[in-house]
Amino acid sequence: DTKDIKVLLLENVNATGVNILTEQGYQVEALKSSLPEDQLIEKIRDVHVIGIRSKTKLTARVLKEARNLIVIGCFCIGTNQVDLSFAAQQGIAVFNSPFSNSRSVAELVVSEIIALARQLTDRSMELHNGTWNKVSKGCWEIRGKTLGIVGYGHIGSQLSVLAEAMGMEVIYYDILNLMGLGTAKQVPTLDALLDQADFVTLHVPETPETKNMISSEELEKMKKGAYLINNARGSVMDIPALIEAMRSGKIAGAALDVYPNEPAGNGDYFNSDLNTWTQDLRGLKNLILTPHIGGSTEEAQSAIGVEVSVALTKYVNEGSTLGAVNMPEVNLRSLTLDEPNCVRVVYIHKNVPGVLRQVNAVLHHHNIDKQSSDSRGEVAYLMADVSDVKEEEIKDLFQSLEELSSRIRTRMLY
Ligand code: NAD
Repeated sequence: DTKDIKVLLLENVNATGVNILTEQGYQVEALKSSLPEDQLIEKIRDVHVIGIRSKTKLTARVLKEARNLIVIGCFCIGTNQVDLSFAAQQGIAVFNSPFSNSRSVAELVVSEIIALARQLTDRSMELHNGTWNKVSKGCWEIRGKTLGIVGYGHIGSQLSVLAEAMGMEVIYYDILNLMGLGTAKQVPTLDALLDQADFVTLHVPETPETKNMISSEELEKMKKGAYLINNARGSVMDIPALIEAMRSGKIAGAALDVYPNEPAGNGDYFNSDLNTWTQDLRGLKNLILTPHIGGSTEEAQSAIGVEVSVALTKYVNEGSTLGAVNMPEVNLRSLTLDEPNCVRVVYIHKNVPGVLRQVNAVLHHHNIDKQSSDSRGEVAYLMADVSDVKEEEIKDLFQSLEELSSRIRTRMLY
């Protein structure tokens, strides 16, 4: 019953998320901060759902104690703070919110395009320091200029629409063949993009293929006086190569929001000697440096609250793992739970031979309306809607499934 579901939310999860879970009728306890490990272990024993952000570490040690826990919601983008494979092996699904801040990033890039073209941050810094320095040389309108978007996913495609509305020509490069929005045109290679673009902006994920994707060779292929913007990941851009290209005048300006070895909290990062290039960056003109704020807006926070709590609700109530980061994605079309004598069986099990036969041997006296299953690594997820089940039979079915040696977790939704 939804009233029996206990939810613990830590680290001041956005009110949008708290409200959605409370409206479901769950028992929700929302705390402002994270908890020390011993207190976390004490509390996690009792709850079915936990919502965290980046500070709460859900290690194997903590999760071992979480006997009733069925699902974890990370109300953020990253999931490094959770031992994902251990969670999966315990039958605990993990959800996050990868795309709630796409618009925020796209808007930041829009602002950077104009700011770079007009050397806005240099003029502002000069006047902050007392100097009136009115210049038009090397300052441009962006109308009619070409924007080259590398990676045409959630952020890249949003940006495409905004840039075109400002009168830019948009070209993009992606490993996938994607339909361009508006009049944006896909180009076949990264080289073709570098060759044509006045502004190059990076929106690819961090993968082995994108490591140092823009280095000396690529910068060399760009137009003289072009601009470069990286709001993707620090690993994508070879920073020493950029420093060289800016010193030589090849690159007229750049904006960086992401860096290698980013710090965990606010503080003295650019004064530390963790990276050799920080001092060089600080000395460059027309270089916008921001501390990974691309997705940091009130709207993104509230969208994260909605996205994650909706995923949690769909998992608790309907067993749907769509969007889970550590489990196979399984969903069944419309729920027939409102119908009498119908039960949805969720069976999370070890990915070993013979399980489907065993499960169906348990269910076969009843009518299996629909069934779906999938695996991811060592864990598999099976969902079946079974009708003609009398209430007193549900417990027996549950017991029979729990006794199978492949069992990780069984849930009966009705
Ligand atoms: P996405 O997955 O929606 O899109 C990424 C696109 O890149 C896809 O279309 C994919 O096909 C393409 N791609 C992958 N590998 C490629 C390659 N080698 N060459 C060319 N294209 C390739 O991702 P998104 O949500 O648009 O995010 C893009 C990047 O932005 C990610 O690195 C993400 O971590 C980063 N990001 C940064 C911030 C920030 O605060 N600065 C916020 C959100 C996301």
